[in-house]
Amino acid sequence: MSSIEANPAQITLPVDVMALERQYLLQNYARYPVVMHRGKGCYLYAASGKRYLDLISGIGVNALGHAHPRIVKLIREQAGLLLHTSNLYYNDYQGPLAEKLAKVSGLDRSFFCNSGTEAMEGAIKMMHSHGRAISTEKYEIVSLDNSFHGRSTGALSLTGQPKYRADFEPLMPGVRFTPPNAIAALETVVSAKTAGIVIEVIQGEGGINPMDEAFLRRARQLADQYDALLVFDEIQCGVGRTGTHFAYQLFNPALMPDIALAAKPISCGLPLGVIMANEKAAATIKPGMHGTTFGGGPLTCRVALEFFDILEGLLPSITRTGDYFRERLRQLATKFSFIRNVRGRGLMIGAELDIPGKQIVLDCMEAGVLLNCTHDTVLRYLPPYTVTEPHVDTAIRVLAKVLKKY
Ligand SMILES: *Cc1c(COP(=O)(O)O)cnc(C)c1O
Repeated sequence: MSSIEANPAQITLPVDVMALERQYLLQNYARYPVVMHRGKGCYLYAASGKRYLDLISGIGVNALGHAHPRIVKLIREQAGLLLHTSNLYYNDYQGPLAEKLAKVSGLDRSFFCNSGTEAMEGAIKMMHSHGRAISTEKYEIVSLDNSFHGRSTGALSLTGQPKYRADFEPLMPGVRFTPPNAIAALETVVSAKTAGIVIEVIQGEGGINPMDEAFLRRARQLADQYDALLVFDEIQCGVGRTGTHFAYQLFNPALMPDIALAAKPISCGLPLGVIMANEKAAATIKPGMHGTTFGGGPLTCRVALEFFDILEGLLPSITRTGDYFRERLRQLATKFSFIRNVRGRGLMIGAELDIPGKQIVLDCMEAGVLLNCTHDTVLRYLPPYTVTEPHVDTAIRVLAKVLKKY
């Protein structure tokens, strides 16, 4: 038994970390008033000793829960071998991970970076490079209202939510927003000037909004007709979250993008983002046109390879447990009329309310269950892929008790 396991339930922090953060950090986060100290499986433990059922998993990142034995063992081993070399040299795992991604995604080539936002930035350069090779007028990018693509200036320019953008305008020119799932509107906005169309197959921060198959197929056709790149941002909905390797594989036949982006769960909590591209899109980046110091290091790539190996065995239960979770939420909706709608696929789950969700999240947390609220009124669960029906039952029991107050 490791020393961490043997810790007493409660630890005494040597400093008041909350006070230090108030004094020394940019005040950009509205954190919950709890200091998390360790995790095991689907549970997180605060410094106070309190245990939480973690059904948000670091915003969809800790896909195998916390301290998965195979991941812990491998990180320990790799830390003693090699952590970083930069992209000056080859390492043991970047090539094998790219091969694995090609097999599971149906796309041809990968570029590794360190976050979802960075993957989006690379994709913006690819769309611009693609357009520019055809015409200097071909630089428009079509993105959807209510979308979220990251907080850097480029990614923010594609994010269709004024609350994230307003303070930073003017942003990158040439972005045209259109409503999700509105085919006629999409047809009017895509033109010969369009270099790319960017879509979350299931919008995450925007409130767990799945795109219709017909809308996505029309986007594919329009991209082909006007020679634009179709980019799926699968940073939240991809890498197993929906019970398929990627959300675009929920459709039959799969609805292939030219570029797919992934990040959040792909290296089990280590920072790794990836751009996957077909040969046509990959050809937009020639030697020297893009790069990163940290991206694709041996540790993150090795963990991701191990994760994909474990994921194969989990995909059926992701679908099953996710369906069960939504079914139980729908049962609650028959009792609480302010639950308007239950949405999502696999373990990407949203329950839209007629009332604000913030206090409900705090009350569930008090009762030992972690979820969050996105878009003000959507309760969001992004549990680890190892979550079981008894965990779901606990979440539902706690939520039902909390909702009685409203
Ligand atoms: C989280 C997220 C991003 C940004 O990823 P980071 O790793 O936070 O940079 C981009 N797109 C989507 C759909 C996301 O959910």
